[in-house]
Amino acid sequence: MMKIAILSRNKKLYSTRRLEEAAIARGHEVDIIDTLHCYMDISSNKPSVRFHGEPLPQYDAIIPRIGASVTFYGTAVVRQFEMMGSFSVNESVAISRSRDKLRSMQLLSRKGIGLPRTGFAHSPDNIKDLISNVGGAPVVIKLLEGTQGIGVVLADTNKAAEGIIEAFMGIKANILVQEYIKEAGGADIRCFVVGGKVVAAMKRQGAPGEFRSNLHRGGSATLVKLTSVERATAVAAAGAMGLNVCGVDLLRSSHGPVVMEVNSSPGLEGIEAATSKDVANMIIEFIENKKSKPHSTKTRGNG
Ligand code: ADP
Ligand code: MG
Repeated sequence: MMKIAILSRNKKLYSTRRLEEAAIARGHEVDIIDTLHCYMDISSNKPSVRFHGEPLPQYDAIIPRIGASVTFYGTAVVRQFEMMGSFSVNESVAISRSRDKLRSMQLLSRKGIGLPRTGFAHSPDNIKDLISNVGGAPVVIKLLEGTQGIGVVLADTNKAAEGIIEAFMGIKANILVQEYIKEAGGADIRCFVVGGKVVAAMKRQGAPGEFRSNLHRGGSATLVKLTSVERATAVAAAGAMGLNVCGVDLLRSSHGPVVMEVNSSPGLEGIEAATSKDVANMIIEFIENKKSKPHSTKTRGNG
């Protein structure tokens, strides 16, 4: 029996409920802690996390479900639990990395993982070169901090691309310019990785006329069979990011699978519905196996 804490802002969310159910079904004790409402004692030699006026108990493991909008405070809470000796399913450092598209892509590129041709810029002094450097129109332009498909734009012509980039420059945003993988046909592949294995995968197809496959944008998901190269790419991407549990999103390009992004709090609802797999159970099982062996996390509590 383990004492497990799920860090989540909302206990009614599908993913939170499923993880709680799975942990209880496997005989563990579970607390759901609202990340933003706990506070920390950081100055003493005995670090603690307090909630409702009481210190929280020593947890064997924590499952961080940190939304993109609370990354800063959320990762600090995870770090505090790491300092207290709890095993975190994903380390705070790895979560921080995954929230920054530029940092993530640099890490993946360093490991030789397939990526779409991508340029990054803030105030490029030569917009035409930025566009032609990734192969010219059509290109996809993204805001660095976007999620759920918002801030992702397809520019059909170089002229349109220049206009969009200028507009983003006007609001002083960090942007990413990427080759458009047309052959993906408005679909991407979500690979759900747990403990270095792809445990479930789904294909998400954008609504008719929509190149973005996000379920929040009206996309639909179905079970998909991965090739061995796709499987290996997803596992390598999770490894490069240092994430034990994550969603790796791939595009099927004519030059092989390319990684678009890696999500450190992947939702369970879409993937469990599309694949009929008990992903929540696999996450709890992973924690049990990890806890039964001395773990080899490298960056614990080190920023
Ligand atoms: P977000 O973080 O907002 O989900 P993504 O980078 O995942 O942003 O882009 C949203 C969707 O747009 C993807 O799921 C994919 O379907 C589509 N997309 C993004 N980049 C490309 C690209 N380079 N080529 C083709 N489609 C893309
Ligand atoms: Mg996405």
